[in-house]
Amino acid sequence: MRLSNLFMPTLREVPAEAEILSHKLMLRAGLMRKQASGVYNYLPLGLKALNKLENIIREEMNKEGAQEILCSALIPSELLKESGRWGVFGPEMFKQYDRHNREFCLGPTHEEVFTDIVRSAVKSYKNLPLNLYQIQTKYRDERRPRFGVMRSREFVMKDAYSFDSSWEGLDTVFNKMHSAYCNVFSRCNLDYAPVEADSGAMGGSGSVEFMVKSEIGEDEIVFCTKCSYGANIEKAQTLPTNVIADVSVREVEKVYTPGIKTIEELAKYLYKKPSELAKTLLYKVDDKVVAVVIRGDRELNEVKVANHFVATEIEMLDAEGVREATGAEPGFAGPMGIKADAVLIDYEVAEGEVFSIGANETDYHIMNTMYKRDFDGIVGDFRKIAEGDKCPVCGEAVTIKRGIEVGHIFKLGTKYSEALNANFIDENGKENPIIMGCYGIGVNRTMAAVIEQHSDDKGIIWPLELAPFEAIVVPVVMKDEAQVKIAEDIYNNLKSMGIDALIDDRKERAGVKFNDADLIGIPFRITVGKKASEGIVEFKLREEEEARDILIEDVYTEIVKAFKEKGKVLYSKTEL
Ligand code: ATP
Ligand code: MG
Repeated sequence: MRLSNLFMPTLREVPAEAEILSHKLMLRAGLMRKQASGVYNYLPLGLKALNKLENIIREEMNKEGAQEILCSALIPSELLKESGRWGVFGPEMFKQYDRHNREFCLGPTHEEVFTDIVRSAVKSYKNLPLNLYQIQTKYRDERRPRFGVMRSREFVMKDAYSFDSSWEGLDTVFNKMHSAYCNVFSRCNLDYAPVEADSGAMGGSGSVEFMVKSEIGEDEIVFCTKCSYGANIEKAQTLPTNVIADVSVREVEKVYTPGIKTIEELAKYLYKKPSELAKTLLYKVDDKVVAVVIRGDRELNEVKVANHFVATEIEMLDAEGVREATGAEPGFAGPMGIKADAVLIDYEVAEGEVFSIGANETDYHIMNTMYKRDFDGIVGDFRKIAEGDKCPVCGEAVTIKRGIEVGHIFKLGTKYSEALNANFIDENGKENPIIMGCYGIGVNRTMAAVIEQHSDDKGIIWPLELAPFEAIVVPVVMKDEAQVKIAEDIYNNLKSMGIDALIDDRKERAGVKFNDADLIGIPFRITVGKKASEGIVEFKLREEEEARDILIEDVYTEIVKAFKEKGKVLYSKTEL
């Protein structure tokens, strides 16, 4: 490709709309443009990189026996009503009506569609297993679209769904998808980790998220400092502390705490540490009012609370609800005498020393209370794990990092096959629901994550496999015909070797050309300048600071060597 023909509208200024590096660079390097909030158009460089990523995903999926199909984005409401999910997505789902007023949505995900396809075609165990996937556009009206294509309202997902006649079969395909995902993210040069994720009320080890380590990630991931344990914070168990409570008789004491509503204020006022206070948080979990008591210095894990009730919805009780449950203004809730459908007590509070709690009376707290002696409830693990807590596997300290979720693999079991009557006849003639798994990769988000991890102050540093162009040839003085001729020869030779090459044939200053090559992140730059007449050009890797002078014929062997290291075989010039 000739740069003079390439539609590459780069920007010198950092666009105000972009907060994170990858978003800034995707706009500046002319990979994409914004259409509306969370809606983007891809331009040639962006689309080329996206296509290369899609092809890596295809190769790795096909290698593991998955077959590609392509479904429509339009899904009739009946299908989602059959599974009971039409109402579940809420405002996140884009609803559509056709000219006959029939209801559709723009698919946010495709479990029902794939299950529908398979139920109409598969009758017997002999037709199983199957693993089908697509690379297709999804629509989700996200509450907070942000960070460019990291969280957008239209995005490309690779979604796969597996169908098996046995649970062992599901384990096998799950492991295959696990390794396919590892290969995809390794080929993208990502620093990532597969971590245990919440699988809702199903429990078990059937949910793994692939997290790219990054400060801007929206997820918190827990890693053990010693063993290989890694989990999403939503999932990470905390271990009971096994503290023997100090049972020395200390009478409960009601204290006047005027206008003191927060843990920090209360700790100061009572001369206590936040860990000596217990806070009572009130939630609406599906239809139940639930009070959860955790240590003052801890954070509640809403997912654990929801899972305890096998609930789908959890939200904090509003002020009116708090008044009803406590008979007091918000800020004074406590487990003694609270009107709730359930009281949950975190291990640490149940096993700890005495605690100060809210009195369920405006402006009052109660000191020296103890679980069982003064209040009761269901004891369990309801808090978020914290830095330095014990690893649930080996007991060493954990550390918490941020991550970007680029993929998720999940053992669905028979949830959708039961709801949609997707059954098969087994060897004994008995009808059973098909056992399913689902496997997603956020394609655009992965691309943005790659840029987030691979860039410097000059621009993107594409890994070779994703680079929109692999090499760029830069003639320095366009007026120098000999130079241009040498550059054109090198460019043509690279192309005939199978290299995706670009030549910067614009009549621009060398500095401008170098800056653009750096900004768009092309892995190899060959600069044809003054020494070209002596058979010498400058060879530079985007990831390295320094350029070096090499003989023209060595350009080809250098590139062949670099490709070989990445497992890609090219013809060298001498073999042509
Ligand atoms: P998140 O927690 O980030 O909202 P999710 O759990 O809703 O993700 P899934 O339904 O599992 O995501 O979708 C599969 C993959 O699609 C995710 O792992 C992620 O990489 C990608 N993805 C999900 N939502 C978006 C979005 N709004 N924009 C870009 N990619 C997304
Ligand atoms: Mg989501």
